[in-house]
Amino acid sequence: MMLLICPKCRHKMKYGCRDGILKGKSKVCVYCGKSFSVLNNIVKQNV
Ligand SMILES: [Zn+2]
Repeated sequence: MMLLICPKCRHKMKYGCRDGILKGKSKVCVYCGKSFSVLNNIVKQNV
């Protein structure tokens, strides 16, 4: 699991990546619904 931050609303959320490949992955913010790149918005790895 890792911690991501939404570039729009700045909320933090956990993200689990099963295959370990983050390149090109995107996540939809659970708070504001914005889709953003996982790789560019990691706060902390291995949470
Ligand atoms: Zn957001």
